[in-house]
Amino acid sequence: MKIELDRAKCAVLGICESVAPDFFEITEDGDIAQLREDVPADKVAELEEAVQGCPTEALRLVP
Ligand code: SF4
Repeated sequence: MKIELDRAKCAVLGICESVAPDFFEITEDGDIAQLREDVPADKVAELEEAVQGCPTEALRLVP
């Protein structure tokens, strides 16, 4: 699976970073960096939590 970030929707609130720090990072200049896209099987649950936790629905898991 892959995790997609819709930058137009993201409000850089950083919840995804706290749930899935291997995938997202708030940069020093206040932007969000996506560190990786491919989601291995053992990380699917973590990314599902990030998708659920994103208040602006900017994250999506795709097959
Ligand atoms: S939780 Fe959602 S709104 Fe917040 S930084 Fe992550 S993608 Fe953006």
